[in-house]
Amino acid sequence: MADVSVVALPLRTRFRGITVRETALVEGPAGWGEFCPFPEYDDAEALAWWRCAREAAHDGWPAPVRDRVEVNVTVPAVDPVHAHRIVTDSAARTAKVKVAEKGRDPGEDLARLEAVRDALGPTGRVRVDANGGWDVDGAVAAIGALARAAGGLEYVEQPCASVEELAAVRRRVDVPIAADESIRRAGDPLRVVRAEAADVAVLKVAPLGGVRAALRIAEAIGLPCVVSSAVESSVGLAAGLALAATLPELPYACGLGTADLLAADVVAAPLHPVAGFLDVPRHAPRPDRALLERYAAEPATRDWWTARLAWVQGLA
Ligand SMILES: [Mg+2]
Repeated sequence: MADVSVVALPLRTRFRGITVRETALVEGPAGWGEFCPFPEYDDAEALAWWRCAREAAHDGWPAPVRDRVEVNVTVPAVDPVHAHRIVTDSAARTAKVKVAEKGRDPGEDLARLEAVRDALGPTGRVRVDANGGWDVDGAVAAIGALARAAGGLEYVEQPCASVEELAAVRRRVDVPIAADESIRRAGDPLRVVRAEAADVAVLKVAPLGGVRAALRIAEAIGLPCVVSSAVESSVGLAAGLALAATLPELPYACGLGTADLLAADVVAAPLHPVAGFLDVPRHAPRPDRALLERYAAEPATRDWWTARLAWVQGLA
């Protein structure tokens, strides 16, 4: 794969501890793919991301069964006024709110949830994502308080780090539990099912190795699925949309509205949701040459990603 473009895209708000999203874009006979495993991810994880990029660039995706996908608005760990505005601006009917960030007062989470509920109105749905930030007792206490502040929760995503902890929390709360890291960073995604640790599976197309691989995992897991992004550019988001568009059942809004988290993208018409929905593209959108140049990574960063990509391709 000769043509690799490495870009550094600024984020609107600090997210997952980063303010710039670095990513490598590759072109193949079927179109464009995106390779952006987070820097701390190991070879096995990075290989799955490469398989997803290669599928998009070389094989294309299976035929979709729906032509648009409902998405949630994502609310980072921001203050209540900012959270309210993010939700109102999105026009989405479902909000996913980040909670349990290290070093923050739990009261901030409650205030953020109240603001989000106020912005959504009584018919909106609110889910929270703790990214494994609680222990079991902390999760049980926090979930009760957050559910009251939000006037009900659709589900809680990854309240604790381990599958065993998720199962323990699930036995003690009424709010459904969603597994994210326990599926995408696990050697065996089915452990969640055997341990009865989750009600909902969050699927991310790149860590799971592409659309076809994720469809197989979804079938094996047998839980309702939500497709979520890894804050890719619109090229990588299109692969997530391809998965969401191909799953036989899609009962929840997906976490694919994350182009809104980026202050810049590589395509002329980024995949920004309209009134809480995204249309499903048949191919990844083609990057705009001028944007690839404008957001081109520094030479050292470009060399790091190019070397990482070559290394991972060698493992495939
Ligand atoms: Mg998550």
